[in-house]
Amino acid sequence: MAKKQFKAESKRLLEMMINSIYTQKEIFLRELISNASDAIDKIYYRALTDSSLVFNKDDYYVKITPDKGSRTLTISDTGIGMTKEELENNLGVIAKSGSFAFKNENELKDGHHIIGQFGVGFYSAFMVADQVTVISRALGSEEAYKWESKGADGYTIEPSEKASVGTDIILHIKQNTDDEQYDEYLEEYRLRSIIKKYSDFIRYPIKMDVKGQRPMEGSEGEFEEYTEEQTINSMVPIWRKNKNELTDEDYEKFYAEKRYGFDKPLKHIHISADGAVVYNAILFIPESTPFDYYTKEYEKGLELYSNGVLIMNKCPDLLPDYFSFVKGMVDSEDLSLNISREMLQHDRQLKLIAKNIKNKIKSQLQSMLKDEREKYEKFYNAFGRQLKFGVYNEYGMHKEDLQDLLMFYSSKEKKLVTLEEYVSRMPEDQKYIYYAAGESIERIEKLPQTELVADKGYEILYFTDDVDEFAIKMLMNYKEKEFKSVSSGDLGIEGDQDQNETDDKEEHKQLFDAMKEILGDKVKQVKASKRLKSHPVCLTAEGELTIEMEKILKAMPN
Ligand code: ADP
Ligand code: MG
Repeated sequence: MAKKQFKAESKRLLEMMINSIYTQKEIFLRELISNASDAIDKIYYRALTDSSLVFNKDDYYVKITPDKGSRTLTISDTGIGMTKEELENNLGVIAKSGSFAFKNENELKDGHHIIGQFGVGFYSAFMVADQVTVISRALGSEEAYKWESKGADGYTIEPSEKASVGTDIILHIKQNTDDEQYDEYLEEYRLRSIIKKYSDFIRYPIKMDVKGQRPMEGSEGEFEEYTEEQTINSMVPIWRKNKNELTDEDYEKFYAEKRYGFDKPLKHIHISADGAVVYNAILFIPESTPFDYYTKEYEKGLELYSNGVLIMNKCPDLLPDYFSFVKGMVDSEDLSLNISREMLQHDRQLKLIAKNIKNKIKSQLQSMLKDEREKYEKFYNAFGRQLKFGVYNEYGMHKEDLQDLLMFYSSKEKKLVTLEEYVSRMPEDQKYIYYAAGESIERIEKLPQTELVADKGYEILYFTDDVDEFAIKMLMNYKEKEFKSVSSGDLGIEGDQDQNETDDKEEHKQLFDAMKEILGDKVKQVKASKRLKSHPVCLTAEGELTIEMEKILKAMPN
């Protein structure tokens, strides 16, 4: 039989495919199962318009059969099958997608379930197989055909036998080498975990014969082996279910199953967007800070699905850094399965989704702050620092988004307050939002610099986090009120003329000169102050940096 040649460019493409498009070999199974699911979908769509066809759901499934003896892994489906021509056109020409054409020809309104569109997924089989055999019988045909290929050097097609409509893809799994392991693709447990990971939400059952042991009837302590066909995938994903049918426990269970965290989520956000971009998402705000959260090791990101099929474990482009604590997943039919990381970054749909998600998280946090104060404080204790970094980073370009989510400890309320609350309580004659920075609340309480401001009856925000002052400097003002450190030279309070104190009496001058001489470069100037009530002395700063900020900057590695 004459061997047909792949087109020259196809050869190159095939090599590229096998070596570079996919970073993980295990995704071959995802691709083949997706194709099988597409093939079943096609019968389903046909049945919608063809009354001679009945779509009985129980007849449609995918079956995975590993066989160690023959080193084969078979992926069978009861889908629409392929004619001889279709085998030739769809599997012989790389980057030709029969599924994409099907969607267009049939002008499917609801055709979004069909996954395929690029016409490259099938060839990922060659990442793990040294030979691929496809036996297929098309719907409405009595004949079956066999397509076979060992990779880049071509393929053969010949008549074959098949009892029912559908397709069997038989992979002859490669031998292990020193660098690469292939045996695992014949192991039941490994296949099961790959199916769970990538194809859990395929709409049709993915079945596999699973071996087990059970106590033998009648004889104590003895076990017998048995085999039972199991459906591995859960089929309907939680995010496609109706929100009203789901309980908090359902979401918590999902959070735990997905191993988003070991805590319980503080809040879940279930989004079903149907606007400019169509997607479903389930997002979680964790309760506690992951141990590596404030380290370089922590990786932000959401799981990204295209039509129920996992395409990326942690897609970083979906979350801004300041919301990097958010866990969860996004599923969109507007994204394609084969898209690469590089392409994703520039994907317009993805950008829209990311913006949408950001706004949703923000408004959820705002309403949590408004309606569930205690919960919000819990959240803020875990992740507030990240929000403050968010205000400071990227030249403050996100400050508008974040300023109303900030909280600081208040000298008056003795608890965390928002800037909004602070400003709403300001007496009319108060010009600034006052703050004091220090190591701890106890330490700040004892600062002599707070005395005058507190005496005036003004509220002071306590900054105990090293990022606090940096964030506030970036914010500059809130509702047109400037921030002012209690240790700054000019407090804007009447009766506090520290700044231009010139009436030093001669006796003071002598004392101050002596002090300056002893302290040397440690201080710039020693002068009298009216700011102090019960403390004999305090430090004040001139210019932009406060003493606390200088300390932090000095402690930073250069
Ligand atoms: P895509 O799925 O993006 O179209 P693939 O390379 O995965 O590209 O598959 C190429 C084409 O081969 C599909 O579009 C489909 O027409 C056909 N095909 C692949 N697998 C099957 C199958 N199991 N049953 C029927 N047709 C299939
Ligand atoms: Mg495909």
